[in-house]
Amino acid sequence: MPELDGRIAIVTGAARGIGLAIAAELTEGGAQVAIVDLDEGEAAKASAGIGGPELGFACNVSDPGACDDLLGEVEAKLGSPDILVNNAGITRDNLLLRLGDEDWERVLDVNLSGAFYLTRRVARGMMKRREGRIVNIASVVGLTGNRGQANYAASKAGLIGFTKSVAQELASRNVLANAVAPGFIQTEMTDALAEDTKEAIAKNIPLGRMGTPADVAGVVRFLVGPLASYVTGQVIVVDGGMVM
Ligand code: NAP
Repeated sequence: MPELDGRIAIVTGAARGIGLAIAAELTEGGAQVAIVDLDEGEAAKASAGIGGPELGFACNVSDPGACDDLLGEVEAKLGSPDILVNNAGITRDNLLLRLGDEDWERVLDVNLSGAFYLTRRVARGMMKRREGRIVNIASVVGLTGNRGQANYAASKAGLIGFTKSVAQELASRNVLANAVAPGFIQTEMTDALAEDTKEAIAKNIPLGRMGTPADVAGVVRFLVGPLASYVTGQVIVVDGGMVM
């Protein structure tokens, strides 16, 4: 029997990229996965290729009311979630002196506050059932910082602190929270980089290549499965050895 059989999972930002690969991987593991994205049509299209079009849900994770509505819909359709993967994330890169208030706030709202709204909402049910897994998709730049990404790096560093705090609060109820910190992964987010920048980045990666969404998804499947039942409050870096 697949190890996630009977589990209900929510993956945000799952219409494409890393989120889509995570949703596919957890579905292969036997979970029923709610595929959440900003755009209802994109979420339905993505879910049609995985578990069925009825598993697509629209939600802007930076809106607390929309997060409450999403959880209501998922609970009514599938049941209470056992697994939450906070993957939705955006970049609005600029050097500090040019970084506008709106780009600062938007990145923090989606990448950090979005994870907070959904985690708070699912935690109660998980605590009652004495079982739950939360995985937050951070980034290596949350550990190292990065020129031109003060907003993004702050959001991801915040997500790591959030993960560790949640892990401490919920551990006594067997609810485990971990973060995954990808390095450079081939998705639309990194497609925007110039070819020579990508080549320069790859040269600094010991494994000699950018990662794939599947590289990240496999680690998430491990963290939400039975083999990781004694792992909480950790940051698992998935970056081909770039940051050691
Ligand atoms: P991506 O290709 O840009 O996909 C992100 C997805 O999130 C999109 O489907 C997007 O929907 C959705 N989204 C954006 N804002 C949202 C919101 N407010 N509510 C709900 N969904 C929203 O990104 P990715 O590269 O797969 O990245 C996924 C996660 O990994 C992010 O948290 C990112 O920070 C992290 N990460 C990525 C890399 C990398 O190298 N790619 C490295 C480290 C960490 P729309 O298309 O409708 O905007």
